[in-house]
Amino acid sequence: MKKSLERIFLGIVLFASAILGYNYYSEYRFEENFDKRYLPPLHKKEQEILRNMQRSFGYTVRFPIVITEKIPGRIYGFATFNKKGHVVIYLNKRVFKESFDYILDDVLAHEYAHALLLSRGYINDAEGGHTPLWQRTCKALGGLHCERYVDRDDVVSRKLRKILGE
Ligand SMILES: [Zn+2]
Repeated sequence: MKKSLERIFLGIVLFASAILGYNYYSEYRFEENFDKRYLPPLHKKEQEILRNMQRSFGYTVRFPIVITEKIPGRIYGFATFNKKGHVVIYLNKRVFKESFDYILDDVLAHEYAHALLLSRGYINDAEGGHTPLWQRTCKALGGLHCERYVDRDDVVSRKLRKILGE
């Protein structure tokens, strides 16, 4: 009797972890040759951002993250609407190797702040979306450097969207 209960319990645990594992990866999209070892630390940082979001705003919204090598040049990432009208965060796969710490410490919160504002209807292309509201959001999400005057990213997101075919 005890043994079979144990087995049932183990079955439930395995089933639950399979589902969790699936959810965990299904929120990310990446090309075939992407090194999946980047995913756990990325996921951990995202969880931190989501906890900050809950604490600061009282809710959490998770955005799909697409890691792609189709982003040209030195752009680390950007957030935009995809064809279906969902807000998606894109990260540049080609800078992962040399700039992974930077992506974790700066880029993810930076883009999450853009994504959150876009999803709440704050669409302001002036200054590349780096408004005072964006800056406060970025800091609230735990971004270490939320400078408004950056030359590195998503000002050109409309053009990028075309390149990506999204
Ligand atoms: Zn930006």
